[in-house]
Amino acid sequence: MLDLLVIGAGFSGICMAVNAHRSGYSYLVLERAADVGGTWRENTYPGCVCDSPSHLYSLSFAAKPDWSSRYASQPEILAYLQKTARDFGVIPHIRFGEQVTDLTYDEQKKFWSIATATGQIYKARFVVSAVGQFNQPNIPDIPGLNNFGGTVMHSAQWDHDYDFNGKSVAVIGTGSSAVQIVPQLADKASHLTVFQRTPRWIVGKNNRRFGFWQRFVFRYFPFVKWAYRLKIHWDQEKAWPALLRESMQKTERTAALTAEMKEKVADVRLARKLIPEHPPGYRPILLTDDYLPILQRNDVDLVTDGISRIDKDAVVTDSGDRIPVDCIVMATGFKSHDFLPGINVTGRCACNLHRQWQLTGGAEAYLGITAPFFPNLFFMFGPNTNLSHTSVIFMLECQTNYVIEAIKTVQEKNASSIEVMRSAEERLYSSLGYWIFLTVWENEHIGKHGDKIANYYWPKRTRDYWWKTLTIDEDHYMIS
Ligand code: NAP
Repeated sequence: MLDLLVIGAGFSGICMAVNAHRSGYSYLVLERAADVGGTWRENTYPGCVCDSPSHLYSLSFAAKPDWSSRYASQPEILAYLQKTARDFGVIPHIRFGEQVTDLTYDEQKKFWSIATATGQIYKARFVVSAVGQFNQPNIPDIPGLNNFGGTVMHSAQWDHDYDFNGKSVAVIGTGSSAVQIVPQLADKASHLTVFQRTPRWIVGKNNRRFGFWQRFVFRYFPFVKWAYRLKIHWDQEKAWPALLRESMQKTERTAALTAEMKEKVADVRLARKLIPEHPPGYRPILLTDDYLPILQRNDVDLVTDGISRIDKDAVVTDSGDRIPVDCIVMATGFKSHDFLPGINVTGRCACNLHRQWQLTGGAEAYLGITAPFFPNLFFMFGPNTNLSHTSVIFMLECQTNYVIEAIKTVQEKNASSIEVMRSAEERLYSSLGYWIFLTVWENEHIGKHGDKIANYYWPKRTRDYWWKTLTIDEDHYMIS
């Protein structure tokens, strides 16, 4: 029997596997695809670049000194993850092409049975779900979409064979993926129509390449690399008070971003469509230098009317405008609130995880990591652990540390299982509720379009999360 089984070989799965490796546990990683990388393997759309500075968007134990630019591109991040998995000896422990379908806890013998779509059954004492939040493309259910005669592709399922030259293209969505895709398509398409449902705050990205000497210094003077990484983290963490709805920083940031967007968009009517009413940080602020100029071209339109239906050759808006298109790009994000999609999880007392989360009105977990009735099961990038002000990699490393601490605690006590108490989870959620009330996510437990925004974010500083995940508070757990 394995000590630990990790589901998924993306950023969090690799981070967990390396730490299991270092701690000397027997472990396996089950990955449904044929390679590591998770969302950075799936998203290959043109212009895909990280929105977090590379030196912070990397694992502390594998801090790469020679990132080519301040914000790394998808191929470079994927190569980094592949190299990290290889260098730390994780690859031989990964079973590719194994999609987990069922997790069942044996209450008597205290182990998890893990069933996969190929019919294999694995057994492990501890299980870590590292399946991420961005693994299920969200394809909106727009009337007529199935009868569209042209090409439809989602940003995470890019068709690299499709020739955009001379085509009339619609891009639906204006999130992080869309603002990177639109500038790439504008020069190829004969006409580009961008459908915006909710405007987003936009700030200049100012990406730049690191020169030879900068990379030389990062490589041969590691303390400079660490100081740089710390500075980015500190600067971003310092901006956290701007997420508080009554803060001076929020007011100042709103004014600065409004001024920046107005300066970049000369047409007042267009600027009015683009500048959000919600406070910055309510949704991640978009970083881009080329999106706003592209929207001001004559062959690019921004449509803020809703989409009522899709005809065989056109998108039809709520006000009845018919926009003929050859191709529709869905930059519509992911079903990020479906945690552990497609995995049937049965814990203690035959409790079903998805049913439990239905009853609580959405996914909940103590520190986003453990759930009552599911002993020895841990989540990475679970509920309430996303951030809108700094890199989520920091959170993943905190979660990895917590899992290792939990396993050590069980071993030290000669016990066989660890399970969070319902009372501890409830206490934490009432505190999170208070913090959410203080932030820009106030009253947004259910977002405008049915998405549970407040269920998504960690509303406090990352240092609070670090402190809470540094050790296991045994008063909050049943260790048996
Ligand atoms: P996203 O941020 O969720 O944006 C999806 C967009 O599609 C939104 O504009 C949304 O409008 C729109 N949309 C969804 N359903 C729609 C419908 N039925 N009709 C019309 N519009 C609809 O998705 P994303 O841009 O793919 O980003 C997903 C996550 O990945 C984010 O957390 C992002 O930060 C991350 N990401 C990071 C990078 C990077 O680091 N470079 C790149 C891409 C993505 P509403 O706003 O009205 O819902």
